[in-house]
Amino acid sequence: MQTILLGVSSLRSSRLAYGCWRVAGSWDPTKVTPPGRAAGHRAIVAAYEAGYTLFDNADIYSGGEAERILGEVLKEVSGMRARVLLATKCGIRPAGTPHPHSPQRYDFSKAHILDSCEQSLKRLGVETIDLYMLHRPDFLAAPEEIAGAFTQLKSSGKVRYFGVSNFRPTLVTALQVACPMPLVVHQVEISLAKMDSFTDGTLDQCLIEKITPMAWSPLAAGLLGGGAHDLLPSQEAYRPEPFLPAIDAVAKDRGASRTTVALAWLLKHPCGIQPIVGSINPDRIRQAATADELELTREEWYRLLLAARGEPLP
Ligand code: NAP
Repeated sequence: MQTILLGVSSLRSSRLAYGCWRVAGSWDPTKVTPPGRAAGHRAIVAAYEAGYTLFDNADIYSGGEAERILGEVLKEVSGMRARVLLATKCGIRPAGTPHPHSPQRYDFSKAHILDSCEQSLKRLGVETIDLYMLHRPDFLAAPEEIAGAFTQLKSSGKVRYFGVSNFRPTLVTALQVACPMPLVVHQVEISLAKMDSFTDGTLDQCLIEKITPMAWSPLAAGLLGGGAHDLLPSQEAYRPEPFLPAIDAVAKDRGASRTTVALAWLLKHPCGIQPIVGSINPDRIRQAATADELELTREEWYRLLLAARGEPLP
C-alpha cells in the first residue's frame, strides 16, 4: 500500500488505516465472547499482513476490549509494534461511570485525559501511543487545560502526536491556538453517504492547517459495500440505494469492486483523506487495501458526487 505523512508530523502511515471499533464482535463488553475475540485477532492480523500500518482505536470501544485485543495481537505478532502506528481516543464517558448515577457526558478535563491515557496504555500493553485524539467535543472544553494535559503526555513520552475527532472547525482553531504542538489529524465521518465535511469548513481547514482528515465509516458502516450489520443511530436514516448503481457503473467500467470505488472516491480529494476501514472480514480487509491502486478521473468523481447528492450542482 502507498504511504502518507499524517499532518505536519513525522508519522508515516499506510494510505488507508484499519479501525478496531468492531474487533470485539459486540459493542457491549458483557456480550464479548471468546469466538468473537478470536475473529477480532484474525481481522487485525489480516489487516497487518495486508499492509495497514495505522490501527485506530478508542477507550470506549467495547468498554476497552478493542484496545485489549489489539494489545494481545501486538504481543503475539513478532515485530508488529515497531512497524505500526497506534491511534486511540478519549473524552467520552458512558452513563454509569464512575458512579451508577453518572450521566453520559464528554470530559476533556486534564485529570480525565491523563487517566484515560494511562488506562489505554495498560490495555494496549505499550509505553507510547503514536496518535492520541479527543473523541467528541466536550461542551465544557477548555483549550488551555487540554493543552496542559497534552504537554504533560508528550513530555513524559506517553504520546507522540495529537488530534481531534468530530470537532467544529472553530473549536479546532481554538484548541490549536492554545496547544504548543500541532494537531495532526481530524477524524470525521466522510463517505458518499455523509458529505458534510466538504461544505462545512472541515476539509477546507484541513487544507489550510495541513491536518490529515481521517474518514470514519468510509463505507457508511457497510451500506456502500455488501450491507450494514450495525449502524450508529445517526446513520439509520441513510438511503444510499438510489446512488449505488452509479458506484456499480464506475466499478464495472474500471474492473473494480463497489467498495474500492467508494474508497477511491475519498482518496481522490487533495487534502489526503485517510479512510479507516472497519470490516472484520479478512477478504474485505484485503480488498479495501487495494483501493489506492484505483485513481478515479475528475469526471468519475463528479458523477458519483452528483448521484450521491441526488440533485444537480448549482
Ligand atoms: P466502514 O468500513 O464504513 O464499515 C464497516 C462495516 O461494513 C462492517 O460491519 C463490515 O462488515 C461492513 N461491510 C459490508 N460490506 C463491506 C465491504 N464490501 N467491505 C468492507 N466492509 C463491509 O467503517 P466503520 O466500521 O463504520 O468505521 C471504521 C472505523 O472508524 C472504526 O473501526 C473506528 O476505528 C472509526 N470510527 C470512529 C468514530 C469516531 O467518532 N471517531 C466513529 C465510528 C467509527 P464485515 O465486518 O462483515 O465485513
